[in-house]
Amino acid sequence: MLPCPNCQSTHTVKNGFTHHHKQNHRCRNCGKQFTQNPTNKIITQNTRTLIDRLLLEKIPLAGIARAAQVGETWLQAYANKKLESVPQKIQNTKKGFDSRVRRTLVIRWQ
Ligand SMILES: [Zn+2]
Repeated sequence: MLPCPNCQSTHTVKNGFTHHHKQNHRCRNCGKQFTQNPTNKIITQNTRTLIDRLLLEKIPLAGIARAAQVGETWLQAYANKKLESVPQKIQNTKKGFDSRVRRTLVIRWQ
């Protein structure tokens, strides 16, 4: 069976289908439900933690994407999700983030 993305246990069972008609799996070890997604590789918690730190530096998104080895599109979506309650959205420009957005990130994440 598909290994669990949460605990890597292979003790997983098929668990019906999601509303996107994808095969759903459930881990019998930790109880996590997940679907297989062959196009998007799983971004580990370690990578997300690294990205959270890199987002606070004056590095353009493209540079963070390269350093963390994630897709730029995914990274922009991830960064914007972090800022969901902030009216401003991160723009992926050559100048990097607006400094006001960065300050908001620092306040929110510390
Ligand atoms: Zn598990």
